[in-house]
Amino acid sequence: MNARDTLARIQALPAPPRPIRVLNVCGGHERSITELGLRSLLPNWVQLIPGPGCPVCVCPEKAIHQAIQMALQHPLTLVAFGDMLRVPVNVNKGDANSLAAARAQGADIRPIASPLEVIALARSLAPRPLVFFVAGFETTLAPVAAMLAEADLPANLFLLLAGRRTWPAVEFLLQAGSSFEAMIAPGHVAAIMGANEWRFVAKKYALPVAVSGFAADSLLAGLHTVLHHALQHEAALDNAYPAVVKADGNPQAQTLLAKAFDIVDAPWRGIGSIPASGYRLTSQHAARDASLQFPVAINGHKRSGQMPAGCDCAAVLLAHKRPNECRLYGCACTPESPIGPCMVSDEGACHIWWRAGERVATA
Ligand code: SF4
Repeated sequence: MNARDTLARIQALPAPPRPIRVLNVCGGHERSITELGLRSLLPNWVQLIPGPGCPVCVCPEKAIHQAIQMALQHPLTLVAFGDMLRVPVNVNKGDANSLAAARAQGADIRPIASPLEVIALARSLAPRPLVFFVAGFETTLAPVAAMLAEADLPANLFLLLAGRRTWPAVEFLLQAGSSFEAMIAPGHVAAIMGANEWRFVAKKYALPVAVSGFAADSLLAGLHTVLHHALQHEAALDNAYPAVVKADGNPQAQTLLAKAFDIVDAPWRGIGSIPASGYRLTSQHAARDASLQFPVAINGHKRSGQMPAGCDCAAVLLAHKRPNECRLYGCACTPESPIGPCMVSDEGACHIWWRAGERVATA
């Protein structure tokens, strides 16, 4: 069914007495929803809520600070995804408060757009060490795991890992008391890990969930199915992205992930530690662990681990606030002059809303 027809079916659903809140986990979904203007097209009883799926936003301060100091204290080159360079962290006065600031102080820090660039760059720089600062979800970690499986990986390539798993963050929200009645699960993560990974939302928490892609037809199909189930008070898992997502995902990619990484409890910036939500290099790859090979001294800061003062990113990531409910939205904090990570990253909800033209602050 095409997007227009699915939208008409959603508009024809009977209005419930109370709004139905639908969480989207992924920054890519939030970008599609906002750019397509879906909020203005859906009935007013449907509330679409952005959630924790921005890897740059949840990357722990300690990891960013470690990357900054590693690049400043050791003769090496550090690469990271472009967004990450501008993320500000709490530091002591005079210290570099972002990777971009460290670069301005002379550190060799370079942006990359894809993990595929890393091997060629390492070869071109050899024997100078190249540290790949990896912040991302399963979709980023799977190609990194494939890279680690390559036979002739350059000896000068090291990883500083801040990888996170998506579903434990959703379970964390649900255990804390869900503020939503239905959920759209990320199609690209499910393409790797399988639609079945999200079955716990229906089985354990009795909520409807649908795996969706990022184009209007799949997104609206996912929204229609979860709204239909929510109106019937039914819990179910649906796959609205069947051309890409299989029930059990991509077994080959899952095997590579299991060989490359152990699963560990991990901190999420502004949220805290979430059980089994992080990746760590297995002992087999310890020689490529930049945190072991290039130790750094990090001075503590009293706000270390927190969001910047006045920034509501944590509440936005936890789906407790909309971006424009932050009192800094659009005044002190804009993409040109970001205060928090949600305004820096392309996948941050504040950045997406501002870029899409949302200028009404409601705080
Ligand atoms: S508008 Fe800026 S300060 Fe407020 S939550 Fe978003 S990123 Fe943080």
